[in-house]
Amino acid sequence: MFQFRGTDENRPTLRYLETMVDFVNDDWTQADLDDEFPLGDGTAETETVVTCPHCGEMNEIALDPGSGEDQEYIEDCHVCCRPILMYVRYGRDGMADVEVYASDS
Ligand SMILES: [Zn+2]
Repeated sequence: MFQFRGTDENRPTLRYLETMVDFVNDDWTQADLDDEFPLGDGTAETETVVTCPHCGEMNEIALDPGSGEDQEYIEDCHVCCRPILMYVRYGRDGMADVEVYASDS
């Protein structure tokens, strides 16, 4: 059973967040966002990719911009089926900041 030690520290979270942002910038162009995400007068991401904190596999997770700017919920990893605690924050430009934590409740 692999699990991060010290999940109450910032270190693992920040590393995942940076990975996440890099991935988004590489794979999503602004043109795609403008075409695909008509959220009001802005654009909002409707899916993201996170790295499972349990098994390290990439997970494509659907986001729901209509649920608010700050969201917190559990997604089960598609690979190992363990719960991933997701924190999603939308910025004014529609970009989502996503943090993931191991949730073994
Ligand atoms: Zn997993």
